[in-house]
Amino acid sequence: MSDPAHCLHTSGEEDPVWIHTDPYSNRPRFPKLNEDLHCDVCVIGSGIAGISTAYELVARGVKVVMIEARDAISGESSRTTGHLASALDDHYTEIASKHGDKAATLIAESHDWALRRVGDVAWKLGIECEYRQLPGYEISQYERGDLKHQKEVDELRAEAKKAQECGLAATFQEGFAIPGWDGTPDQRDATIFQRQATFHPTKYLVGVLKWLAQQPQFSCYTHTRMMSCEESGLLHKEVHVKTMDGYTITCKDAVEATCVPLQKLSIIAEMEYYRTYSIAIRIPKGSYEDCLIYDLADPYHYIRFTACDDQDDYLVIGGGDHKVGQEGEDGRYAELESWVRKRFTRAGSVDYRWSGQIFDPVDYVAFIGLNTGKKHTYIITGDSGNGLTHGVLAGRLIADEIQGIDNPWSKPYSPKRLPPLSTLPSMLSHDLQINAQYKRYLQKDIPDIESLAPCTGGVLNPSTSKPLAVYKDEKGVAHKFSAICPHLHGVVVWNDTEKSWDCPVHGSRFSKEGICVIGPAKAGLNPEDETAGRAQQVVMATT
Ligand SMILES: Cc1cc2nc3c(=O)[nH]c(=O)nc-3n(C[C@H](O)[C@H](O)[C@H](O)COP(=O)(O)OP(=O)(O)OC[C@H]3O[C@@H](n4cnc5c(N)ncnc54)[C@H](O)[C@@H]3O)c2cc1C
Repeated sequence: MSDPAHCLHTSGEEDPVWIHTDPYSNRPRFPKLNEDLHCDVCVIGSGIAGISTAYELVARGVKVVMIEARDAISGESSRTTGHLASALDDHYTEIASKHGDKAATLIAESHDWALRRVGDVAWKLGIECEYRQLPGYEISQYERGDLKHQKEVDELRAEAKKAQECGLAATFQEGFAIPGWDGTPDQRDATIFQRQATFHPTKYLVGVLKWLAQQPQFSCYTHTRMMSCEESGLLHKEVHVKTMDGYTITCKDAVEATCVPLQKLSIIAEMEYYRTYSIAIRIPKGSYEDCLIYDLADPYHYIRFTACDDQDDYLVIGGGDHKVGQEGEDGRYAELESWVRKRFTRAGSVDYRWSGQIFDPVDYVAFIGLNTGKKHTYIITGDSGNGLTHGVLAGRLIADEIQGIDNPWSKPYSPKRLPPLSTLPSMLSHDLQINAQYKRYLQKDIPDIESLAPCTGGVLNPSTSKPLAVYKDEKGVAHKFSAICPHLHGVVVWNDTEKSWDCPVHGSRFSKEGICVIGPAKAGLNPEDETAGRAQQVVMATT
């Protein structure tokens, strides 16, 4: 019998590799909020962005209340692959062409600070989290001798040059072969980024959260879902954060660290929503060099290593990204495994496979700072595959802004910025693509409930009424929910890998019981029969 509380621990049915040495039972536990409260700053969400923001504020003596809809660290920060990189996925050549060289330099400096900040905090708080600095290698996806390899080498050279101009220790090295790569594909030549870093993400976050829990000016409430966050009073002096259970936190400032802001449009429309896949595969200790690896494929492969046991470590590879709810796993795990085996011939068994969600702003820069139209409500979103450094950096930028400290790094990340004109064509095509997803009102995934196998789901679309999301549990009992996403009314799609309902419009996701696990939706799918309502109650009763 599967654990009914699983969707409160993490956002998918598949467990990430991090639980190998840091099980869910290690996560600090907090009470549910059952009264109204006052504080200086309310932080909503307990991922790397929320915890880093709380850390920076509490360390400066600010009184912080953190609320979390599910368990602590149950979001994408627990499903990440843990690269701490200033070698950004979107490339400095692209960022500089959209935002200018000055902004690209500020962005490089700020990520460099963030990846070192994790090491400093881990050292200061005595957190054992595998933090280490190491090189990052960026290579062509093609083999030497292929003309396309040469073309990508030109891109690698240009990226090394631009990253250097932005102040990073990056060089292009012709003929560079990644140590430990003993398979046949010859993809030598690389841009080498020195002083990148990696860590065990949940060990780090658990460590910081445990430290926070000991501070008198910090409190945290889990299973406490924010439903609204409104400014009021003269000069918007107060922010009222209202929870699903009807309690109010009154604060001077609120920070929505919910991975994606829980609002209707503006910022939401400027991002693309992707599902990305990862596997952890055993590799004998000493048979590889500890490093980060990226290729230039689209979607690209990203690789790092982490501890497994006395004999082996894990090689963790990610890739296979596709738009949320618009494609399925479709052999992506197998592709990642075969990629590794061809290049690291001593790779052993695949012990973990999981997927998660990333958010790409169309102009390649995250949104960190005061929300549009607000004076005391901050957002952190748009990770672009670098959400860990963005999250750590957000802590500093928002703490500075709340305390009135001018920080030159904040400008490129401002949510109030206008997207550069050059992004308009991609914004328009993204918009059209998103709107096309409403075609699902005319589609059905299953002809009838009888045809559903146990532990699967599908959307039934009766011509006479609204679409129904039907999940058949392991005992064969069907649970019916409204298939309409409460955000902007897209029709959800069954994700058979993570056993969830995913909205193809703006990427909101819901567990098989219809509980919201990723916004922008604030609430879950409406139960449409008694068994569905009961399944939700069983989950929510698990505190
Ligand atoms: C497979 C994968 C690999 C990745 N690899 C990397 C990498 O190597 N390097 C990198 O930098 N980035 C990487 N990323 C991205 C990075 O992990 C994320 O961007 C980052 O962890 C997001 O952190 P966060 O704190 O913003 O969100 P989350 O960790 O998702 O935390 C948000 C929290 O808010 C809570 N919440 C949501 N709504 C509410 C509400 N209404 N009320 C209260 N609480 C709420 C959620 O339950 C959740 O716990 C990867 C992501 C994935 C999925």
